[in-house]
Amino acid sequence: MSDIVELSNYINGEWRQAICEHWIEDYAPATGALIARIPCSSREDVDAAVTAAQDASHGWASLSILERADWLDKIADSLEIRAEEVAQLESLDTGKPISLARSVDAARSVANFRFFAEQGREFQAETFEMSDATNKVLYKPVGVAGLITPWNLPLYLLSWKVAPALLMGNTVVAKPSEMTPMTASLLAEVMEEVGLPIGVFNLVHGNGLDSGAPLTSHPDVDLVSFTGGTETGRQVAKSASSGFKKLSLELGGKNATIIRADVDLENMMSSIVRASFLNQGQVCLCGSRILIHETIYDSFVEAFLEAVTDMTVGDPSDEETELGALISEEHRDKVLSYIDLAEEEGGDILCGGGAPIGIPSAFENGYWVSPTVIDGLAPDSRCATEEIFGPVVTLHPYSDDEEAIEIANMTDYGLAGSIWTADAEAGSLMAEKIDSGMIWVNCWLHRDLRVPFGGVKNSGVGREGGRWSLGFFSEAINICIKH
Ligand code: NAP
Repeated sequence: MSDIVELSNYINGEWRQAICEHWIEDYAPATGALIARIPCSSREDVDAAVTAAQDASHGWASLSILERADWLDKIADSLEIRAEEVAQLESLDTGKPISLARSVDAARSVANFRFFAEQGREFQAETFEMSDATNKVLYKPVGVAGLITPWNLPLYLLSWKVAPALLMGNTVVAKPSEMTPMTASLLAEVMEEVGLPIGVFNLVHGNGLDSGAPLTSHPDVDLVSFTGGTETGRQVAKSASSGFKKLSLELGGKNATIIRADVDLENMMSSIVRASFLNQGQVCLCGSRILIHETIYDSFVEAFLEAVTDMTVGDPSDEETELGALISEEHRDKVLSYIDLAEEEGGDILCGGGAPIGIPSAFENGYWVSPTVIDGLAPDSRCATEEIFGPVVTLHPYSDDEEAIEIANMTDYGLAGSIWTADAEAGSLMAEKIDSGMIWVNCWLHRDLRVPFGGVKNSGVGREGGRWSLGFFSEAINICIKH
């Protein structure tokens, strides 16, 4: 019992329990063990956090962007000292391998604060001259930012929103996923440690309906940045729209990985496998449909299966582990139901399809699915067009570039994709015809934080990243001064 942590909300610089004193239980995906209890916050807790954020607004907005950039660096410094703790907590809370939690989650969370600090220092106010007047563009804070994040990359995605929100002078109320609350609490500890003015950063734990929905619909929340599933995004859009809040929605994806006939398979295979299964396939950018030129179909499948079955699945705390557990029992069952559906749709399960064989007894109650490769499905089947968000990929042959593009665009999503080819120019031309926010050629998840990030179609509304984040988290105001 003593290992079970009780987390608190962080509101107005104080650690508080939910007013209703109800709790939500948090389980370790790898073992199914109870590891934490979090406050089951409701509207009253959200109200208190929003009031605190509103009260802190004026003071925070009155700092210069350079002063706020300095605060971001202090947060980054403090987070960096605790990077190993972040990695351990993230691995425990999400079931992901510790090596991934270190190299991506912990490192990138620090990098996000540093990156936006730098963006703040480089930020130039614009002026536009007319023959008889000067236009000055100001970027004012929007006000109170409601930030809602999912469980797959908990602190990475939270820091991606908190850093630009604070930089541009907004105060924050954050609501992380109830399934991965640990590192959001650690971030609140960091805010307290560095002495961030009280009320500038507030954290409300809880579930989507009781605490997420009151936040997105709150009349005093001026901006909502949401990352999560498309259906939830629809509800968030509805609740935020009546108050004309600024809204950014980063939603689901069903991304195509296109393998052209001229691909250098030997050198590219490990990256293609990574694009398929990183974080157990629970990255919105993962390529879950692999489209393969028909002339190399058989050789690709053989080499791909060899690489996939070679991956080490198991204990997330083991340095050698490449794939860990899925986030929850419910999510595991959803993924398995798609594998059943694939069989009903005529698919052939080439590997995986259930829990890994021989998983140690300590992990028997965890939520496991081994990497699963499915062949023989129509490209417009449900399994090939709906987001599964797990370690499952479907394989599809195509005959020419036009057909590959047609299949890639055959879903309601439009988040990302990748193209693998010896002809980078042809790959780049193909990329332009794919209806997605981000396409990589001969790489995947190769991120320059200055570029726009976001999806089209049902994958989202708006862009974050670099100057797009600075624009979203501020109100551009023009002052026209006649000479
Ligand atoms: P989710 O179920 O939509 O939840 C996302 C967040 O919204 C959680 O904090 C959730 O709280 C909260 N929430 C749920 N219902 C809400 C409501 N009615 N109002 C306000 N907030 C509400 O998504 P998820 O399962 O956590 O994450 C997986 C999804 O995120 C996938 O579809 C993935 O593609 C997408 N994703 C997209 C990106 C991107 O950048 N485009 C990045 C990462 C993930 P609770 O969890 O506590 O209920």
